[in-house]
Amino acid sequence: MGYQYHILMPIVVRNLSLPLDESEDALLSLVSKRMHVSPQDIRSWAVIRRAIDARRGQVEFVYQIEVELEAGIDAEQQCMNKLRRQDVSSIAPTEDQPIVYGREALPERPVVVGFGPSGMFAALRLSEHGYRPIVLERGREVQRRHNDVMVSYYKDRQFDPTSNLLFGEGGAGTYSDGKLYTRRNNAMCRHVLEKLFLFGADPDILINTRPHIGSDRLPTICSRLRKNIESLGGEVRFEQQVTDLAVNDHVLTSISVREGQSAPQKSMRVGPVIFGIGHSARDTITMLASRGVHIETKPFQIGVRIEHPQAMVDQWQFGAVAGHQRLGAAEYHLVAKDAANELGDMFSFCMCPGGIILPSHESPGLIATNGASRAHRSSLYGNAGLVITLDPAKLGLGPIESLAYQRKWEEKAFKLTGSTYRVPVQRATDFLNHQISTGSLETTYPLGGAWVDIRATIPTAVAEALEQALPGLEEKMPGFAGPDALITAPETRASAPIRFTRDPQTREAIETAGLYPVGEGAGYAGGIISAAVDGIRSADQIIARYARPR
Ligand SMILES: Cc1cc2nc3c(=O)[nH]c(=O)nc-3n(C[C@H](O)[C@H](O)[C@H](O)COP(=O)(O)OP(=O)(O)OC[C@H]3O[C@@H](n4cnc5c(N)ncnc54)[C@H](O)[C@@H]3O)c2cc1C
Repeated sequence: MGYQYHILMPIVVRNLSLPLDESEDALLSLVSKRMHVSPQDIRSWAVIRRAIDARRGQVEFVYQIEVELEAGIDAEQQCMNKLRRQDVSSIAPTEDQPIVYGREALPERPVVVGFGPSGMFAALRLSEHGYRPIVLERGREVQRRHNDVMVSYYKDRQFDPTSNLLFGEGGAGTYSDGKLYTRRNNAMCRHVLEKLFLFGADPDILINTRPHIGSDRLPTICSRLRKNIESLGGEVRFEQQVTDLAVNDHVLTSISVREGQSAPQKSMRVGPVIFGIGHSARDTITMLASRGVHIETKPFQIGVRIEHPQAMVDQWQFGAVAGHQRLGAAEYHLVAKDAANELGDMFSFCMCPGGIILPSHESPGLIATNGASRAHRSSLYGNAGLVITLDPAKLGLGPIESLAYQRKWEEKAFKLTGSTYRVPVQRATDFLNHQISTGSLETTYPLGGAWVDIRATIPTAVAEALEQALPGLEEKMPGFAGPDALITAPETRASAPIRFTRDPQTREAIETAGLYPVGEGAGYAGGIISAAVDGIRSADQIIARYARPR
């Protein structure tokens, strides 16, 4: 390749298209033509964005390139004048706010509860600036966790509430799909991507518009990140569950920590504590609420997951060039407008091309689905959530009742398939015809599936929305609701139904100073990048308030 990946340079040229079979080396000549300069006038260039465009009946790659010219500022300005406005800019990404160190003395080393993306990045930030955080994570480190999931759970069906696909080093992020999409596109998101690259992610995540890491690469990245924290003076303690806290005059003063399942609790005096506990730590959320930490409800998603042969998805998206080696597995994002009647749209969530469906629950006796894929997205199937948004306020549910509502569907699903951790499944055609499917059942779910009536595992509003959405989707994408489409359920963990109310300035929980709720469980993030950014921003608040320890 004739370019480097992420050098910042003054001119950005957009909308450069290359056909599928053209090498990226052709970009130099393309960009020089667009800029009306010769290739020799270009000192250096770098791809900063690569997207697949399959919209106008043909599939091509579209690029953004940063260019530095030999001729200097005047010549650059001349080139820019010749370019169409939408095709060029000279603005480098804006830098994030500079770090400011506070003056107050830290009462204790900062504590981070939870080592998912929000906790990891908060701890990393604190460590990088000399604040030596102590991380308390209820799960195990990633190698032991791997064994707990792959052997004890998948093979022996022994679910471990300490160490599973949601709890342990890296949190829910470790076995997530590792899609790094975010609606925000700012310097802090870029910063997180660069860190992930630094700890082992492919450099393509810095340029692809749909970056993806894969569940086979994430565990190594998480453990490298942890080792970096440790090398900077931070400490990560596994199998340490925070079970209680004490608040004095609206200030968090101590937390109770249990080491392992049966050990007695120990009390720990604390200063600032970041809580990045994820949205599945229902016990901890309930404990925090019972101690007066303010939580409110927020809308959340609930639905099913649908799985198709990946070749079918490729055909929908790429038509005649489906299967082209440069394209990889296709994904989709779809919206069935107003399928849920007054509740609005049914839409896809966390589509995993070439992936598998995963169990995503934290306690025994539950089933909840989600999806993931490996870096090469090589499974023969693609799956996606199909969800609608429910507002707890309209259902008459408070925060803790909303968690119980999600759990109710997860328990039903577990019982319906014989309490064996098999996932409920129904063919889309049979779902529409109101009949239980029969015949051999092949699903990517690692614990297998059982034919059931999916309606029994989801709220009526979801079943009705699905019934309304599927025929239209079938029309647009033949086979979407056909016999090869398998519906699994319930998809209950797309987002948290609660939010910890924070002071917008200090980011502390209102009325509980010193407690910083962050990430998905706090209700301020909906994925890896947004959780990581949220964690960093709260770490920055601690840094801005307290002096750097000597
Ligand atoms: C299968 C799957 C696929 C996903 N795919 C994607 C994807 O492709 N892209 C994407 O952006 N997002 C994806 N997500 C979502 C993503 O993983 C989460 O948004 C993200 O992990 C949230 O980060 P977090 O730090 O807020 O919480 P979490 O990752 O949930 O981490 C919370 C951590 O806190 C610990 N903890 C909880 N309570 C306590 C306690 N009391 N004491 C000590 N420790 C505690 C837990 O053990 C856990 O490790 C996926 C999720 C799943 C389950």
